[in-house]
Amino acid sequence: MNVTLTPYNGVLLTLSIVALSVAGYAWHKRALPGALPLSLLAFALFVWLIGYAMELSSQTLPVVMWWVRLEFVGIVTAPVAWLWFAAEYTSSWSWLNRRRIWLLGVVPLITIIVILTNEFHHQFWQSIALMTDGPFTIFDSRRGFWFWVHTGYSYVCLLCGTYLIVNFIRRTPSLFRRQTGALLLAVAAPWIGNVIYLAGLSPWGKLDLTPFTFTASLIAVAWSVLGFRMLEIRPLARDMVLQSMSDGVIAVDEQGRIIEVNRAAQAVIGLPSAQIIGRHAREALARWPAIVDRYRHVTEIAEEIEVEIDATRRWFDVRISPIYDGRRVYRGRLFVWRDVTEERLIREELRRNNERLLEAQQALIEARNAAEAGSRAKSAFLAHMSHEIRTPLTAIIGYCQLLENGIERQSLEQTRHDVEAIHLAASHLLDLVSNVLEMARIETGQSDVHYVMFDASSIVRDVAMTVQPLLRRNRNRLRLEGIEELGELWGDPTKVRQILLNLVSNAAKFTTDGEVVVRVAHISDKSQPRIQFQVSDTGPGIASEHITRLFIPFAIAEHHVGREQRGAGLGLAISRHYCRLMGGELTIESAPGCGTTATFWLPAPTLQIALAEVEG
Ligand code: ADP
Repeated sequence: MNVTLTPYNGVLLTLSIVALSVAGYAWHKRALPGALPLSLLAFALFVWLIGYAMELSSQTLPVVMWWVRLEFVGIVTAPVAWLWFAAEYTSSWSWLNRRRIWLLGVVPLITIIVILTNEFHHQFWQSIALMTDGPFTIFDSRRGFWFWVHTGYSYVCLLCGTYLIVNFIRRTPSLFRRQTGALLLAVAAPWIGNVIYLAGLSPWGKLDLTPFTFTASLIAVAWSVLGFRMLEIRPLARDMVLQSMSDGVIAVDEQGRIIEVNRAAQAVIGLPSAQIIGRHAREALARWPAIVDRYRHVTEIAEEIEVEIDATRRWFDVRISPIYDGRRVYRGRLFVWRDVTEERLIREELRRNNERLLEAQQALIEARNAAEAGSRAKSAFLAHMSHEIRTPLTAIIGYCQLLENGIERQSLEQTRHDVEAIHLAASHLLDLVSNVLEMARIETGQSDVHYVMFDASSIVRDVAMTVQPLLRRNRNRLRLEGIEELGELWGDPTKVRQILLNLVSNAAKFTTDGEVVVRVAHISDKSQPRIQFQVSDTGPGIASEHITRLFIPFAIAEHHVGREQRGAGLGLAISRHYCRLMGGELTIESAPGCGTTATFWLPAPTLQIALAEVEG
């Protein structure tokens, strides 16, 4: 055999080695989708390239014919292998599986037979010639009928394969960009080569570029499909990830049959995967019918639900998402759930702690406010008291000086007036100091009651006498009602006297040119019989917003500082405290311009008390 080596067949031979390597490698990986037809495609190209290289190097027609025939084995196989690869790799046309693929080989087989028997019927080549005028020997022919059948069939196969790959690229946007590029090159290359050849645009005359470009396409495909070693380990890795997940995972198909279940889900269901996969979710999850019903038709959701497992309530974060295949057709649903009970409990605990903290903070704020208010009240009280004490003291000292300087010269009447003024100021001072001392005793819990039977009417008369100077000063009249029927009372006479004196003094102090009435009565309308004292005046009255503050010790001082002299603001607080100590109550009713009525009552002495007293 006379073989001439040229750069062209050198390239072809190199490419054939590449094709053969790809064929071997793809064969090795034939379990991967598309690898087997890819191996066939690579092998067909190898045969084609070898045949073509040898054809170009051969000198005589019989030798050239021999290689051309071999070449055609590759040429007829390549388009079919390409279509097979496209169908399998892109999972299109499920009917075109490995069992039926030989059907595609019928036409190529006939073509080979037609080629081998061409000299009898000339249906493939009508005439054959050898062109040796170019840089290499090229086989030239006039094509017969079957040549066009073969060409047509090859184009249909190429076209279909191209369509499938382009479609695949279009609907799988998640493909790697490099992978997409390689596939596109693989699709375009044979067409470009073929079009150049058939259009007679080849720069090397009748040199067929198709095997070159087809090899380029083969390399691109091999790189795209096999080059990503990830393809091989991806399912494995994916499975490991799925199994090692602590979240439960179940996939169900459109009919609700379980098609995938991970270990965490198996643990919850309590069955191995072999007994779960293939079963209907309804049966596998029969223990939780409510959950199956709840999610029967749900394809997408994310929520937290409460489930009872082995008599304990647990919380799960459930996520459902639809599963679509490569063609975006809905194939089932994926359930992923996570036990969030601990998280929820911690969340609850945090919330409760937070509430407790807020309550404690609130209490602290209130305590601080109270302390601040108390301190403010005490400061105001001190300021007020200094003023209260200084005013009568100044009066006393002033009158004493008047007496000192003019005692020989002034009349007896004048002297009495001065002494009375000294007396009044001193009594006021004494009241003030007594009240402060008494309040201090009350606040330290040292104030107690000394019960005795006493004549209540004499106490009322005594108080009436005591307030005379005050009444006179403001030109007030005093009227006593009901004291004759009063009789004896059970309680602490000092305290009762002090309460009454305080109320009548207030009435006399704040009323001018008016009347003060003291009413005493037995009341028996309620279950407990009681004795009621009422002190009414025709004075200015008290605004409603001040009435509530009357009984708060020192509070009155806050708005009286710097105003006219009015006392320590402790009288009513002390009086009410005394009343309550003796089982009674003290209230004030008043309105500006309508006078004031202070009412206090004490329990009437019972028969038992009276008898005990008599016996005692
Ligand atoms: P004090 O011991 O300083 O008199 P009280 O607790 O007895 O304090 O009275 C507190 C305040 O209540 C008085 O300063 C006055 O403003 C008001 N008040 C009490 N009684 C009367 C009344 N009969 N008419 C008008 N205001 C009154």
